[in-house]
Amino acid sequence: MSLASVLPLEAASPAYICPFDQACSYLEAAAKELRLDRGIIEILSHPRKVVTVSVPVKLDSGEIQVVAGHRVQHSDVLGPYKGGIRYHPAVTLREVSALAMLMTWKCALLGIPYGGAKGGIAIDPKRYSVGELERISRRYISELIKDIGPSVDIPAPDMGTSAREMAWMMDTYSVNVGHAVPGVVTGKPLSVGGSRGREMATGRGAMIIVREALADQGKSLAGVRVAIQGFGNVGSAAAELLYEAGAKIIAVSNSAGGVFSQDGLDIPKLKAYAAENRKSIVGYPQAVAISNADLLTLPCDVLIPAALENQITEENANQVQAQIVAEAANGPVTLEASLSLEARGVTVLPDILANAGGVVVSYLEWVQGLSYLFWDEERVNREMEHLMVQAYHQVIQQSKKRQVSLRLAAYTLGVGRVAQALTDRGLYP
Ligand code: GLU
Repeated sequence: MSLASVLPLEAASPAYICPFDQACSYLEAAAKELRLDRGIIEILSHPRKVVTVSVPVKLDSGEIQVVAGHRVQHSDVLGPYKGGIRYHPAVTLREVSALAMLMTWKCALLGIPYGGAKGGIAIDPKRYSVGELERISRRYISELIKDIGPSVDIPAPDMGTSAREMAWMMDTYSVNVGHAVPGVVTGKPLSVGGSRGREMATGRGAMIIVREALADQGKSLAGVRVAIQGFGNVGSAAAELLYEAGAKIIAVSNSAGGVFSQDGLDIPKLKAYAAENRKSIVGYPQAVAISNADLLTLPCDVLIPAALENQITEENANQVQAQIVAEAANGPVTLEASLSLEARGVTVLPDILANAGGVVVSYLEWVQGLSYLFWDEERVNREMEHLMVQAYHQVIQQSKKRQVSLRLAAYTLGVGRVAQALTDRGLYP
């Protein structure tokens, strides 16, 4: 039985790109390069477990609403399932399945002992009160109580969720099992066993990978012109760290729209503006307005898509002017767009490398929690940097050795490690 027969079909507009098919085509390309056995490919193209639960929630109005919550566990060959939980209106089971697969390759590439999973609820969190979000989060996690655990499956924040939701989920799990279990989720607040450096981690990881890629071209971050799509947890942290390192952030945007300044934006000021304006950067006075689509094609050195999937497609890939595209989001560049960028000599830093900083610090949080020993931020950042830089160099070497793109290099490393472990473990029974 193939996954296609299990996953419900989704609205098929002509421009629709099925995220799960896309993830499978990345796997196929890596498997072909590695000459993997068909049986191994078959196993890896199916998530091990797909769970959909109904989450009934009493709204503040007293009305009851039922939303669907998903958790897809793709692979636990290398260790417990690991991956975030997304609250976004565009969440579908196919998207969650694709993102779960990406997590498997990401963890394997970074050399951290986890498999891959992802969760999601198709809601717009902005339309719910804090109390409603708390009830949704608690009910969702209690429906999944038998499927998660510190050595089974460890959720974390993703788009639309943060340390706040992780604290609710950790508490719900703990109350249900009768004792505190901080290791069941990562990305928690510091007060309940979170790690220093976790909040900025994905953005920091992206900054490190961009810095390394520039260094390979004999350049430094100082003065480099950067455009960033997305000013949420990932985009704003990347903007801040790149700004501190001397880069010129000429444009940033979020779902409501963006801002552009030829001379570079003052990121601390912009962050303060966003904090005062319910996270919106629209109307920031020291800049001009720019749309999300126009930001992608600005003349700049580095473009960082740090929002949703499929932002750079065949349609706009040839208008991208950046020399480096760093995928801080998951899957922001389609396969075809990636090929067309690479054919023009653009360096595409693949998502499973460029956005791995978050899960790396999640791993460091989990390790600190399990050993009851917490580190200062300097140590967390140092350990994370080591793993990121090491993976970057492995990807570069693999790309040279196999004469393939950085994306295929990263995928062959991730997929290859999982396939090797699968072969060594053997098939039960
Ligand atoms: N949601 C993040 C990602 O896509 C972090 C996952 C985690 O920390 O487990 O990589």
